[in-house]
Amino acid sequence: MTDPEFSGLSALVTGGASGIGLATARLLAARGARVACLDLTPDVPGPLVGVRADVTDDAAVRAAVATAAAALGGRLDILVNNAGIGAQGGIEDNPDEEWHRVFDVNVVGMVRTTRAALPHLRRSPSAAVVNTCSVAATAGLPQRALYSATKGAVLALTRAAAADLVGDGIRVTCVNPGTADTPWIGRLLDAADDPVAERAALEARQPTGRLVTADEVAGAVAYLASPRSAATTGTDLAVDGGMQGLRLRPRPS
Ligand code: NAD
Repeated sequence: MTDPEFSGLSALVTGGASGIGLATARLLAARGARVACLDLTPDVPGPLVGVRADVTDDAAVRAAVATAAAALGGRLDILVNNAGIGAQGGIEDNPDEEWHRVFDVNVVGMVRTTRAALPHLRRSPSAAVVNTCSVAATAGLPQRALYSATKGAVLALTRAAAADLVGDGIRVTCVNPGTADTPWIGRLLDAADDPVAERAALEARQPTGRLVTADEVAGAVAYLASPRSAATTGTDLAVDGGMQGLRLRPRPS
């Protein structure tokens, strides 16, 4: 049975063909929204609509947003800015070109999609933008200088955009996932010298002792995007197994 929470609303999810984005697109659709997924390779199951674009290409983003709105009943109410890429290393480990490339996807990419969607969002009676940020924005993680800097920028951008757009009736929020069990982390583990030990180390870093699931992040995105959350804007919501907020004593061995 369809939950009517999102019925009549249209949503666009970037990076919507995999991991957190796909889980979010599926959940919003299950709760009644019409949903398009913008991605580099937008192979998504129906009723999701795939639109192809690279978020670093402004013209392609504008065309994809127009295509998505047209396919979803001529409207866009919800934008989930989720497309993102990783980067490893400390402050000395990436050249300028890599810093610019990762910022271009993770930060400017969100600016491009939001800018293109704004004319639609301004016409919506319950407009919401939800950005996928990270615990890396709020906790210092080793060997993640570039990635963390991009997510810190996403957090600041979320708050600034929320201030700018509240008068237009558009809410802007973000989710801060901890390490989530998605194809992204699968690739990281595959590249590790000892994938089993690496996975155990990532799990041990979470107070819950396990990785976050994509569905758990999707649930938080749906909460933030919902018309029922109309008083919530400028908020960042941690979905990190307690990683940011808890300080546990070592478990007895
Ligand atoms: P994922 O790799 O499974 O999915 C990311 C999707 O983004 C892919 O489908 C990819 O094709 C798309 N994408 C990448 N670059 C793009 C571009 N230039 N244009 C359009 N689409 C592009 O990863 P995920 O784990 O689901 O991550 C999604 C988001 O969650 C990212 O923003 C990531 O930073 C964030 N995040 C992930 C974790 C985690 O542990 N997995 C933790 C915190 C935050």
